[in-house]
Amino acid sequence: MMLPNNIKLKAVLFDMDGVLFDSMPYHAAAWHKIMQKYGYDLSKEEAYMHEGRTGSGTINLICQRQYGRDASKEEIENIYQDKSREFNNYPEPAPMKGAWELLQKVKAAGLVPMVVTGSGQLSLIDRLEHYFPKTFKKELMVTAYDVKHGKPHPEPYLMALEKGGFKRDEVIIIENAPLGVQAGVAAEIFTIAVNTGPLPDHALLDEGANLLYPSMQALSDNWDELIGIKK
Ligand code: CA
Repeated sequence: MMLPNNIKLKAVLFDMDGVLFDSMPYHAAAWHKIMQKYGYDLSKEEAYMHEGRTGSGTINLICQRQYGRDASKEEIENIYQDKSREFNNYPEPAPMKGAWELLQKVKAAGLVPMVVTGSGQLSLIDRLEHYFPKTFKKELMVTAYDVKHGKPHPEPYLMALEKGGFKRDEVIIIENAPLGVQAGVAAEIFTIAVNTGPLPDHALLDEGANLLYPSMQALSDNWDELIGIKK
């Protein structure tokens, strides 16, 4: 597979959880446990479907479903704080296999790697520098603190274009979650899905992913061909 000719690639926008870090199993477990503590039903499996939403977005959605109202500001703060604490009790998430290798190829090709995440977890954001040193510029990062609307709204990816000074046809997106793919497609940016979790491929393809790879390693292995580097 090769990127379409109309793409003049300058930057690669990476989602973080489930793309750069193998952190989703812990997020799903933490969401399930803490929501249960507050009387809400959210299975681990469903947590994967909501992946990419902001914390408050997820909490409100479940609260609406169960009680037909938005969660209070206080409730959202308490739940998200507890969830973050629970997440931090788990072992440190490992970098996703193949991610560092791919980032080296991205940098070697003269492309700018950027992180676009719905996460507001400072611990994990700090870990980016530890595991992927000198790769991501902090001023180019888009996190939960930068946007009003989380994924699946296109704002995070549009914000990345603005921060980097890039046009739509100068970037591609790497995403692992259905809502992340939805955000990329809504931003009208070429979106590559990597299926690193338990959901079926169609959960990502149905949202309009332009390409799908079974893992970050597979994407890395196919990278040169994808961007048209002749062997
Ligand atoms: Ca993700």
